[in-house]
Amino acid sequence: MSLDSQSEEIERLIAGENDITIVERFEESFSAKQPGRPIFDKMLQRIENGDAEGIIAWHPDRLARNSMDGGRIIYLLDQGKLMNMRFCSYTFENSSQGKFMLNIIFGYSKYYVDSLSENVKRGLRSKLRNGWQPNLAPIGYRNCKDTGTIIVDPHHFTSIKKMFALLLAGQYTTPEIHRLIWEEWGYTTPIMKTRGGTRLARSSLYRIFNNPFYAGYIRWKGQLHQGSHLPMLTKSEFEKAQRLLGRTSSPRPKRMSFELGGVFKCGACGLAVTAERKRKKSGLEYIYYHCTRVHRSPKCVQPSIEEKELTRQVMTFLDGVVLPERILKWFAHKIAQSKDDLSDVQFALAKKLAAQVDSVKKQLSNLTDLRVREMLADDEFTAKRSKLQRELGEVEENAAKAKNRQVTFEPLQILQIISIRAKYWFSFADAKTKQSILNILCSNPTIIDKKVRLLARKPFVDMNHFFNCLNLRGDMDNVRSTPPCAKSTHTENIAHLSQTDFQEKLKMLVADQNFIKLAEEARGLIEKIEPQLLKNICDAKIQPASKLTLTE
Ligand SMILES: [Zn+2]
Repeated sequence: MSLDSQSEEIERLIAGENDITIVERFEESFSAKQPGRPIFDKMLQRIENGDAEGIIAWHPDRLARNSMDGGRIIYLLDQGKLMNMRFCSYTFENSSQGKFMLNIIFGYSKYYVDSLSENVKRGLRSKLRNGWQPNLAPIGYRNCKDTGTIIVDPHHFTSIKKMFALLLAGQYTTPEIHRLIWEEWGYTTPIMKTRGGTRLARSSLYRIFNNPFYAGYIRWKGQLHQGSHLPMLTKSEFEKAQRLLGRTSSPRPKRMSFELGGVFKCGACGLAVTAERKRKKSGLEYIYYHCTRVHRSPKCVQPSIEEKELTRQVMTFLDGVVLPERILKWFAHKIAQSKDDLSDVQFALAKKLAAQVDSVKKQLSNLTDLRVREMLADDEFTAKRSKLQRELGEVEENAAKAKNRQVTFEPLQILQIISIRAKYWFSFADAKTKQSILNILCSNPTIIDKKVRLLARKPFVDMNHFFNCLNLRGDMDNVRSTPPCAKSTHTENIAHLSQTDFQEKLKMLVADQNFIKLAEEARGLIEKIEPQLLKNICDAKIQPASKLTLTE
């Protein structure tokens, strides 16, 4: 019963009585379960001082549901400082029998509170153990009252999944998604009794994106539990979403306004490189890229670079990016043999992943040992454990995925297409696509002293860089030192490998998680620009590598 209606009832109770003077009204919204309620203390203080000699309340259990408060009231009655009490729902008489009854009511209230919370706790524990989140299911799911489980709410499940898809595509920020789902989809929250049917709050969207529930987990009191509900995302998708969310909090330049905005970092200070339009006296407009630290102190003194020059350097890089020739030769050979047996790769991979799962499990049990021997503080233990639990979920998922997936040459084919088409695509693509192309082909693009530094990502090699190194090596033969770039390209490493080692290395490469992820990203790009190129791959008959040439 609300405080308002309780006080109305009390007004009605004392309406006809003339011999009662109200000294003070106390309203306390603290639960009576625990001692230490400031207003209650104040009220008893006034009675002890002799300011009043009675209490009027809704029910005795409003006064005392813990053993201390009840005891204090009875004691005041015994001392004669408290003479009378009136309740809306109970009649008290100041006699030994009345005090006895009051004691029982106080005791019963306490018992009721205790057993209620015990029952609730027991219920929650058993729900969690069975993998069901004990409270309200998040949007996209519904609590099934009949079975006590959590089931999919099809309409909202689909919508939330689409929101995650937007986030995972990496092209929208959360505020952008928040606007889009309202303005374009007209998405409204689920209707529940008196709430819902309105625009989703932005904070709710953040909460959704942060909730591991959608990846099959239950976060309860700071710990992760395995859920039994149908997950919306894989664990790795959820992890990716978390990474993307983390990124949005760091300042970044407007992406759409300049072709290469937000791609590069300053090689000197590490901040983002941003673009600016400038008009010269001649009236011609130029676009300059410069470090974002020019307005802050200490200033970064890196010179700005004109867009044309920047693009030229990037094109040169793209021109030189290829898959190493030795890989291509091996690849063409394998394709010619058509069905090559990659089952040994599959086997080795499965073994490797199983070992990873075991290792994390062992770490978990070691951690528990440490806790048991009290060598770890509670919160440290909890933090470490949830980290390991997440890791375990991830490696288990990888292992399961690898079991179902046939290791194929497809990723290699896709990356080859990218290396051949990148420069051509870059010449006409929009800003977003340009960024994805660079993302696939190189890591950490930076600019220093008006020179772009693009390091080809594995397994690509940058032939320009390679030849530069060779030239450099010729010059430096006299001083007999290793050129600094010798380690940065793995072409030489591959070139020096024996045939057997080389083949083993390649087989592990085509099964490598990061390599496959890169290829998946690349596939998305091809689908957007030249989907017909993927046909050759999907066909049973695979086009030999050499026939895929540039047709500008
Ligand atoms: Zn800088």
